[in-house]
Amino acid sequence: MSQSHFRYHNQPITQQLIADIAGLLDAHNIPGVLWGNSMLIVHGVPSFTEDISFIVPDQAVPTATSTLRQAGFKCCTLGHKCRFAYDTVEFITSPPPSAHFHMTGHNVVKLFEKSETLSTVANFSASPNAAPSAQIILASDLNHLPRYEPDLGEGAFPQDLHPVRVPSAHCLVETYSTLMLRDWTNDYGTFWMSMLAYIMTYVAGKGKLDLQQVEPQRRKFFVDMRAGKIGTAQAVKNLRQALEAGPISTLAHTKAEPKAQ
Ligand SMILES: [Zn+2]
Repeated sequence: MSQSHFRYHNQPITQQLIADIAGLLDAHNIPGVLWGNSMLIVHGVPSFTEDISFIVPDQAVPTATSTLRQAGFKCCTLGHKCRFAYDTVEFITSPPPSAHFHMTGHNVVKLFEKSETLSTVANFSASPNAAPSAQIILASDLNHLPRYEPDLGEGAFPQDLHPVRVPSAHCLVETYSTLMLRDWTNDYGTFWMSMLAYIMTYVAGKGKLDLQQVEPQRRKFFVDMRAGKIGTAQAVKNLRQALEAGPISTLAHTKAEPKAQ
């Protein structure tokens, strides 16, 4: 069966379903990168997930929306008002997706815009095996992702599924730091902080995170916080000052939309 003919018929969330959705997007020339809890699980973070999130180029959101709808996912009409549009980590809420779709139960598929998430990463291609850069890797890449271990996330995908792109561990350190800095003064700064804490706890120190590849200021930020040397507020202030003093400001300029109340 061609990936473009994939149909959703109440399958549970598995690596197979994630790879099938990645294949569906690729077949429609929409380059997606896995995001959210389903992506953290690939990095070995133990997590329960009710969603499959993909980052797509901003201009591809309408095409991705019609593609998912035609494949049988139910487009949500409540948008930001729908409570299933949000992830919650110990009462801390995530930024809303650009669009989301309902599966059975509380399960959802979410689309996020690249400029709101991976703004500092170069554009990616929809060619199935066109991942590999230092920042975007394939979910089956055992050089950069862990194998399955009991009590941790599932780890790398098997080789025989459609290739799924994921951010590398060092890309996540850079991206979560950037988003935390961007959103520090709104509702979402602590959400990105909790994502960074997952990386500190479950990914760093296991040999799959190459800290040398992290941009130096963000590396210092991550290392200082992981060592518990300084408080979070001070670390954020230091990072902001260091980036603003740099030759070219590498601060992300986009702002997350305010959360619907
Ligand atoms: Zn909804």
